[in-house]
Amino acid sequence: MDGQDARDPLGERIAAKRDDLIELTQALVRIPTLNPPGDLYRDICELLRDRLAPRGFDCQLIRAEGAPGDSDAHPRWNIVARREGTRPGDCVHFNSHTDVVEVGSGWTRDPFGAELDGDRIYGRGTCDMKGGLAASIIAAEAFIEEHPDFAGAIEISGTADEESGGYGGVAYLAEQGYFDPARVQHVIIPEPLGHDRICLGHRGGWWAEIETKGEIAHGSMPFLGDCAVRHMGAVLDAFERDLFPALANRRTDMPVIPDGARQATLNINSIHGGEPEQATDYTGLPSACVPDSCRIAIDRRYLIEETFEDVQAEVIAVLENLRETRPRFDYAVREINRITPSMTERDAPVVTTVAGAIRAVTGHDPAYVASPGSYDQKHIDRIGRLKNCIAYGPGVLELAHKPDEWVSVDDMIASARVMGRALETLLLP
Ligand SMILES: [Zn+2]
Repeated sequence: MDGQDARDPLGERIAAKRDDLIELTQALVRIPTLNPPGDLYRDICELLRDRLAPRGFDCQLIRAEGAPGDSDAHPRWNIVARREGTRPGDCVHFNSHTDVVEVGSGWTRDPFGAELDGDRIYGRGTCDMKGGLAASIIAAEAFIEEHPDFAGAIEISGTADEESGGYGGVAYLAEQGYFDPARVQHVIIPEPLGHDRICLGHRGGWWAEIETKGEIAHGSMPFLGDCAVRHMGAVLDAFERDLFPALANRRTDMPVIPDGARQATLNINSIHGGEPEQATDYTGLPSACVPDSCRIAIDRRYLIEETFEDVQAEVIAVLENLRETRPRFDYAVREINRITPSMTERDAPVVTTVAGAIRAVTGHDPAYVASPGSYDQKHIDRIGRLKNCIAYGPGVLELAHKPDEWVSVDDMIASARVMGRALETLLLP
């Protein structure tokens, strides 16, 4: 026994659960909860219920009926498991999404085999974020065993659809009051940030479709029509000239990583104009038509220092300017999604607690980061009105959604020890 373990019986207990942690992670990864379409949510919720109910958790399975994507073929099931302590106190909630993104190509391992190789478990969702879910469960179970007389409550949720906006998951639960600050006081989302980084929040986003309009005519006489693709060319040109340089000049004070994402950004996700693309096995030629419609999907990520209204107005101004200066220019804008930026203050209780736990477990200070994309914190903040929320969990962020995704068992153990420490601070007054 070394000196550090002697002072940290909970950490020792967690480390001793290594095999259990590996098996739990493997069991979660072996359920291919692919989203879209949203497969097997019920199965993974049942696995979590069968795990947690015998350990004293009150488990509720909640279907997000009517949420986007919810259908009888692909029901959006979620689980909220709550373990009450022996006396009043705060509730600490660990929220993990159970869905994973498509496999994609380039794998050398079985994407749903959850193969253990040395310190690594391979598979889709190991890093993002079933490893984090498993680490939080092990931390909570070890904490309850070590301190059966704890105060307050521990909640563990497994939620659907984070990868597609979270509307059938955390957003739904927040609307039902599950993240009411009177019910839950601290939220930790074990997304893959690594065991020594605290993610305070994320940038905002505006997804929209822009359509330019034209008039169809025979392609041999384009002057008889009006080419919507040329109009879109003018839009993209104006973006290059006016919008991109302006965005690059705006920097946030949020600690967004990587550094390139500390500025406002715009991505053109897609462009479609003219006749629809044919299947790849179609051997015919295209027809001769002037396109009467061209559409792009934009993904504008904005900074917490910007307002949503300004972000939208800035794009509209480019389009309105073209309407005034370019003959026959007409357009339409359709909003696809809106993401509110979120940032938890560094002196919030969950931040200072987890920071202290990281110092205790690793011996060094945590790094504070913010996410370039978003995650379910947006719903907990905006709908739940709960500000005391962070992302903290094992895994290498850059491996998320990649082929041969993996999570390190040592990283999971270290994260679970930090989570356990945080529970000791918050629930053993
Ligand atoms: Zn994730």
